[in-house]
Amino acid sequence: MSKVLVIGAGGVSSVCVHKMAMNADIFSEIHLASRTRAKCDAIAASVKQRTGQTVSTYEIDAEEVPALTRLIQEIGPKLVVNLALPYQDLPIMDACLAAGVDYLDTANYEPKDEAKFEYKWQWAYQDRFKQAGLMALLGSGFDPGVTSVFAMWLKKHKLKTIRQLDILDCNGGDHGQAFATNFNPEINIREVTAPARHWENGQFVETPAMAKKVAFDFEAVGPKNMYMMYHEELESLAKFLPELERGRFWMTFGDAYITHLTVLQNVGMTRIDPVLYQGKEIVPLQFLAAVLPKPETLGATTKGKTNIGDIATGEALDGSGEKTFYIYNICDHEDAYAETGNQAISYTTGVPAMIGAAMMLTGAWTGQGVFNMEQMDPDPFMDMLNTQGLPWQVKELPGPVEF
Ligand code: NDP
Repeated sequence: MSKVLVIGAGGVSSVCVHKMAMNADIFSEIHLASRTRAKCDAIAASVKQRTGQTVSTYEIDAEEVPALTRLIQEIGPKLVVNLALPYQDLPIMDACLAAGVDYLDTANYEPKDEAKFEYKWQWAYQDRFKQAGLMALLGSGFDPGVTSVFAMWLKKHKLKTIRQLDILDCNGGDHGQAFATNFNPEINIREVTAPARHWENGQFVETPAMAKKVAFDFEAVGPKNMYMMYHEELESLAKFLPELERGRFWMTFGDAYITHLTVLQNVGMTRIDPVLYQGKEIVPLQFLAAVLPKPETLGATTKGKTNIGDIATGEALDGSGEKTFYIYNICDHEDAYAETGNQAISYTTGVPAMIGAAMMLTGAWTGQGVFNMEQMDPDPFMDMLNTQGLPWQVKELPGPVEF
C-alpha cells in the first residue's frame, strides 16, 4: 500500500497511471503532476471511468526544482515516477534528493542543445542517492527497460555468458497517417537522426545514421526492414555484461517514413539549433513536432502489432556448448487501446514503468544509489510482465544471427 507521484501526462504516463489504478493493492494513492494540468485531468477522468479509482492532479514545471520539491513534500509519496521528457531527468532527481524520495524514469538524460543521450550525467548522482539512503532506478520502459531485463533473464536461466546481443524493435502498426511518430516526435526524431553506434570488442563503433539495413521476418508482423541505430541500453548492457563482444540495436522503419524523414532532414526541419524567424528564435525540430500528429491521438486508428526482443548467443549454462536464444513480446495496438485508450508504443513503455515502480514499492527490488535494470533480479519483473499485459516467449534458434 503506497503513495506514488507520477510526473508528465503524455501517452506513456496515461498507460502507466491506468495500470497503477488497476493494481490498487500496490498503488493505493496515485498523484499526477505535469506542465499542462488539463492533460492530467483527462487521464484522471479516463482512469475513474475505467477503474473507479481517483487520481489527484497538479500543475508543475518539473524544471523548477524548488517548486517541485515543495510539491513532493506536500504530497509525501514513497516514489516519484518521471514520465516527462529526458530533459527533466536531472531536475526531478534533484527534487527527489531534496525531498528525500525514491526516483524512477524510462529514458536517460539528454541536454536540449545536443542530441547526445548518455548515462554519465545520471550515474554522477550515485554518491548523492547512496548517502541519502535513496534509490533511483533508470530506464524502466521497454527499450531501455524490458530489453535489459530480457538479457539478464537469459543470463540467469540459459546462458553463462552473452557473447553477442541484438535487440530487435519492430513496430508493425499502421496509424493511417502519411508521417507521424509513435512517441514524442522531438525525442523520436533526435534519436533516429543521430549517428548509429554499436558495441564491438570493447568500444563503441560509430557509423552514419540509417546506413545499415537488414530484412527480418518478425512473428505476428511479417518481413520488415530494420536499421541499425544507437539506443541507450547499449551503454548499460556493455557495462553490466563485461563479456559482451558485440551489442547492436535495430529498429524497423517503413519506406514512407524513411522518405519523409530524409526530406525533412535535407530541408533543415530536423535541426535542433535555433534559427531566427520573423524576429523570433525558433528550433525547427520543435516547430515540426508542433505540426505533426500528436502521438496520443494515433491510438484510435492504429492497427497491427509490435514485436520487440533480444537475440543472444553465448555459452549455455548447462555446459552444452554455444547456444542462441530469442526472447520477445508481441503487443497488439488495438488491444492496448481498448484497455487504456493508448496505442502499443505507449503501452509497451507505460506497463514496464508501472512494473518497475511495483518492484520498488513492494521491496522486490531495493538498493541505495543509482541503478540500471541490469543490476536487479529479472525474475519478479518477468513474472509481472506475464500478468500485466506484456507476456513474453523464448525460443532457441539454430545458431547465431547471420546479419
Ligand atoms: P509525451 O510528449 O507524450 O509526454 C511528455 C509529458 O511530459 C507531457 O505531458 C509534457 O507536458 C510533460 N512535460 C514536458 N516538459 C515538462 C516539464 N518541464 N514539466 C512538467 N511536465 C513536462 O511523451 P511520451 O509519453 O511519449 O514519453 C514520455 C517519456 O517516455 C519520454 O521521456 C520518452 O523518451 C520515454 N519513452 C521511453 C521508451 C522506452 O521504451 N524506454 C519508449 C517511449 C518513450 P505538456 O503536455 O505540457 O507538453
